[in-house]
Amino acid sequence: MSTYRFTCPECGAAVTVDSGARERLLDAGCAVCGARVGTAAFTATNTFGTSV
Ligand SMILES: [Zn+2]
Repeated sequence: MSTYRFTCPECGAAVTVDSGARERLLDAGCAVCGARVGTAAFTATNTFGTSV
């Protein structure tokens, strides 16, 4: 299972998301502040919830 660590560049919200949630964030923006986010806001993780 691929997971990603999302950190919002605007408000600093940090959450771990799966690939589906990542796609929604890229499409709709940050769930907290609504900022548009790009792929650079995501870091792939290899263990659930743990950054590489
Ligand atoms: Zn935000």
